Amino acid sequence: MAKLSIRDLNLKGKRVFIRVDYNVPIKNGVISDDTRIRGTLPTVLYALEQGALPILASHLGRPKGTRNMDYTLAPVAARLKELLGREVVFASDCIGADATKAIEQARATGGVVLLENLRFYPQEEKNDAAFSKQLAELADEYVDDAFGAAHRAHASVEGMTHNFANPAAGLLMEQELKYLGHALEAPERPFVAILGGAKVSDKLEVIENMLGKVDRLIIGGAMAYTFLKSRGLPIGKSLVEDDKLDTARKITADAAAKGVELALPVDHLVTDKIAPDASTEVLSVEDPAIGDRLGVDIGPKTIDKYEAMLSDAKTVVWNGPMGIFEIPIFATGTNALAKAVASVSGTTIVGGGDSISALKKSGMSDRITHISTGGGASLEFLGGQTLPGVAALKDK
Ligand code: AMP
Repeated sequence: MAKLSIRDLNLKGKRVFIRVDYNVPIKNGVISDDTRIRGTLPTVLYALEQGALPILASHLGRPKGTRNMDYTLAPVAARLKELLGREVVFASDCIGADATKAIEQARATGGVVLLENLRFYPQEEKNDAAFSKQLAELADEYVDDAFGAAHRAHASVEGMTHNFANPAAGLLMEQELKYLGHALEAPERPFVAILGGAKVSDKLEVIENMLGKVDRLIIGGAMAYTFLKSRGLPIGKSLVEDDKLDTARKITADAAAKGVELALPVDHLVTDKIAPDASTEVLSVEDPAIGDRLGVDIGPKTIDKYEAMLSDAKTVVWNGPMGIFEIPIFATGTNALAKAVASVSGTTIVGGGDSISALKKSGMSDRITHISTGGGASLEFLGGQTLPGVAALKDK
């Protein structure tokens, strides 16, 4: 169901609360990646053009409901000001007099307000009704542009929307719903999903839901070892979830029943230690010579196989690395997949911090149709779940 968009609202002269996801990496006050801030600029600029006063609110990290200044959004306000080229009034509190004062100040200067970290209040994560109301009192309209937080029923994402007649999606949120929604509802085929990373359990629902949608499912990363072990193959000391072996067998059977090609590595890179100077060897996944070493990347035959499976794809969804790509000598598979996905001529959607950083390193991220800003949220969406922050927005 399509959701009301910020473009459907009359914003002239209105205070518009925009829930953004400015949960960016900050070390010693320095922002190392401002992708999430940049992602919201179209919405903020649109609101300004329409004559609105944007009041931006976000969480940052896990201050656990206390005013822990390690998690202040002040550095984000400074960065936002540079990117917007407009006055950004930083409110030292997200509710009450400080917030109201900042709003009045921004009204006078024609700027925007950024409220302090919502999670300084435990009521935010508890979806507290009174706190939601206090947030809502700051504004006339509500817009959610924080797809990355949409899977959490928190006050700024869910609770406060009930105080508005027309809670709407921001432009970034709209894009996320458009691309991810289209992949699930009406994908062009062949539709290939690539899942990697460490844990099967994290991605179980995604796998199950995707089996009903995709033509091919490519598995890589540590996740593959749970599948390989469930088939009786030697995996040495590779990372595995022993309590998910039955689940892996069931997924294998489901894939066969649904005619989905479930692809596992045929060879891998094994090593005796996880270190940049480790010695490595490529082995077939059937080779017991792995001994008590562990698998840390997909091998060259697997790369060829996965590239071939992607070559004629018309829709691709990728989440999760193919190996311990943080260590360069174990990153070959992930980098090769990043290039292969970027070369696909159809719609490509990449989510998850690791896959996105691998893509960026490959220098190919501008060839991806849609880079999803919300890792957890995009996985839950692809897993077929209703996201509370999306459900809370008004249907068109
Ligand atoms: P996830 O958060 O589930 O997407 O997992 C991402 C992590 O999986 C990354 O930090 C990778 O280093 C890790 N990973 C990928 N492949 C392997 C592997 N074969 N063994 C151990 N860890 C892996």
